[in-house]
Amino acid sequence: MENYDAIIVGTGAAGGIVACVLAEAGKQILLLERGAALSFDDVGRDQLRNQRLSVYGHNAGPELVGNPRVFVDPNGNSRTVKPHEPDYHNNAACLGGGTRVYGAQAWRFSPDDFRMATKYGIPEGSSLADWPFPYETLEPFYERAEWELGVAGADNENSQRSPRKRDYPLPPVPPGPQTIALTDGALRLGWQTSPVPLLINTKPYQARAACIACKYCVGFACPTDAKSGSHNTVIPRALATGNCDLVTGAIAERIEVDQRGNVSGVSYFVDSPQGTNRQTARSKFVIVSAGAIESARLLLNSTSAHHPSGLGNETDQVGRNLQGHLYPRAYGISPTKVFNGVGPGVTIATTEFNHDNAGIVGGGMLADDFIKPPIDFWYDSLPPDLPRWGLANKQFMRDNYTRVLHVRGPVQDIPNPEGRVTVDPGVRDKWGIPVARLSGTTHPATVIAAEFMRARGEDWLQASGCEKVWSSQPGLVLSGKQHQAGTCRMGIDPRASVTDEWGRVHSHDNLFVVDGSLHVTNGGFNPVLTIMALAFRSAEYIARTL
Ligand SMILES: Cc1cc2nc3c(=O)[nH]c(=O)nc-3n(C[C@H](O)[C@H](O)[C@H](O)COP(=O)(O)OP(=O)(O)OC[C@H]3O[C@@H](n4cnc5c(N)ncnc54)[C@H](O)[C@@H]3O)c2cc1C
Repeated sequence: MENYDAIIVGTGAAGGIVACVLAEAGKQILLLERGAALSFDDVGRDQLRNQRLSVYGHNAGPELVGNPRVFVDPNGNSRTVKPHEPDYHNNAACLGGGTRVYGAQAWRFSPDDFRMATKYGIPEGSSLADWPFPYETLEPFYERAEWELGVAGADNENSQRSPRKRDYPLPPVPPGPQTIALTDGALRLGWQTSPVPLLINTKPYQARAACIACKYCVGFACPTDAKSGSHNTVIPRALATGNCDLVTGAIAERIEVDQRGNVSGVSYFVDSPQGTNRQTARSKFVIVSAGAIESARLLLNSTSAHHPSGLGNETDQVGRNLQGHLYPRAYGISPTKVFNGVGPGVTIATTEFNHDNAGIVGGGMLADDFIKPPIDFWYDSLPPDLPRWGLANKQFMRDNYTRVLHVRGPVQDIPNPEGRVTVDPGVRDKWGIPVARLSGTTHPATVIAAEFMRARGEDWLQASGCEKVWSSQPGLVLSGKQHQAGTCRMGIDPRASVTDEWGRVHSHDNLFVVDGSLHVTNGGFNPVLTIMALAFRSAEYIARTL
């Protein structure tokens, strides 16, 4: 194979940006993606098999057969799980990664999210830490992500919490009847609200059309390409330079090292009409952007005589601190219709409770939700005392599908070093590569914060005039799933982190991790804009260094 300047593993939120910045800087790169480049029709609109409701399967990978993981429950019982099962902690595996089917909420973290240990102290048993730099360091890169990919939002209350120098490039999505009800409720409570920032073209932008307000946003592909992800923004830019070779259907098996133990390239399996081939490509730099679980897996699987416990794992940090978000949610029956079927559906949020809640470490954001297909509503949103079948259930669905008001939101995860990714000693995938083994839970302080946020959700719905209010809240579970992060955290001390502030693995000059794995903490917000901002920052550094 050719010698590249850099090989990037993964084309998701981070990998696409790294490819774009390096290719536009004139670097020759190989971009590997294990999944396929899915068309709109490939993603489809199956309401029971999609990345948000994956009862019988899903629509953005990985394939259900041949890609297991092992999940270890809190009692120590392990079992093999398929990609569409909740304990798999899946995101997506296709060109664009999670951004192909995500909801596209585009939040900045707040300044306090970067200094959690300083602000709150370190709860016993947790690995809570500060980021190696403050919010202000990332601020220009948030702005760059917002403008280069295209975020719709309004410069108001949340912008005061996460200060910005420039407004959003696109106006926010218009309010719906649920926005009006929740605005009234927030006013009664004295809470401030803002529109939800979204990576969605509310007007034509960057040569793509505007949103047509269809009901299928989260879990699906956009019919007009108005939802911005790596696949329709930064990857086409990378390819247009002529400097980027993209290979889909190519799963990195291991990062190769030379006889002195220095990183020299990547071996991968690639599908072809003749079957599956194993190939090795050489490069000056390797950048791992495979998502928090698979990036850790790849480093841990890259063992050699020089690195018997995997790459970057000298201090047993790779794979630790797996975090995502507990997502408390509340529902209430509104006296009037609050559903108009106009997508995306998520329109209003409050960031009143992201910090400074008495007795709570952190907190979270609350927002209304994306439009739910009726089956998703049935799965997710029914009152606990309602039968799940029969006439009473049908009657409730008929009467209330358009009247139930929802709020939900991500709660700041307090990381636990025992919530982790290792590689399973026995189970292998269809290529023979040892699979990820997931174990542990989040820290109990996360559950306390989630309970607090669940109660605030109920408050909001009651103040918004709901007659009956109910809620659900996760217990002490492993946190990861679609917001997975933290497994190769950045830091100054190699004993407590995997990379430096640029994503460079401490023990290797030419090996970088750039994706959600870097997050020291995961904020009380959906994480993707932070992953993108970090990717722009690291990619610029890599381009300067290469
Ligand atoms: C349904 C859904 C809704 C979501 N909604 C939101 C939202 O509204 N807001 C938000 O902030 N976030 C949302 N997310 C989460 C968001 O998509 C992720 O945070 C983000 O994509 C993570 O970026 P990443 O670069 O870390 O990894 P990914 O985007 O997961 O990219 C990793 C890529 O690497 C590839 N890969 C993995 N292993 C290998 C290998 N060995 N060889 C080759 N390729 C490999 C994968 O196939 C994948 O394409 C959502 C996700 C989903 C699925």
